[in-house]
Order: sequence, then C-alpha cells, then structure tokens
Amino acid sequence: MAIDATGRCSAPARSADADGRATAGRFECKVCWSVYDPAAGDPVWQIAPGTPFSQLPPHWTCPNCATEQSGFLPLDD
Ligand SMILES: [Zn+2]
Repeated sequence: MAIDATGRCSAPARSADADGRATAGRFECKVCWSVYDPAAGDPVWQIAPGTPFSQLPPHWTCPNCATEQSGFLPLDD
C-alpha cells in the first residue's frame, strides 16, 4: 500500500514497433544491394507478392548475385 510521493508512476510507453515491420520488412543484399520487397515478391524466383522474407523457400538466393539469405540484412524503412 505504498503511496508514491510523486503522485504518478511511469506512464506506459507507446509502442513504437506496433507496425510489426521487423519481420515483414524489406531485406537488402549486402553484396549487391539488391532489395527484397515482400510487397512485390520476386518474379525471378516466382515468389508471390506478400511473401515475407522469413517465408522464402530455403533455396532462395539473391536474384542478382546468388548470395544466400544469410547475406541479407533487414531494412528499417
Ligand atoms: Zn545480391
């Protein structure tokens, strides 16, 4: 039953990552800077638009330079 002398506790922080972009965002090849955009998919590999990077088939590689998925980095915006 402690009474806070300040009269207020920390307000809940507004969620800055409510968009969920961390997992659904674009990824950039760190070798050739090609960008995989989930909204566009990948016509080279016949990936349907709306496919997140995390759900690409295991054999998917960079359509430009064949770098494996581990060579891609997430883009923040
Ligand atoms: Zn590449």
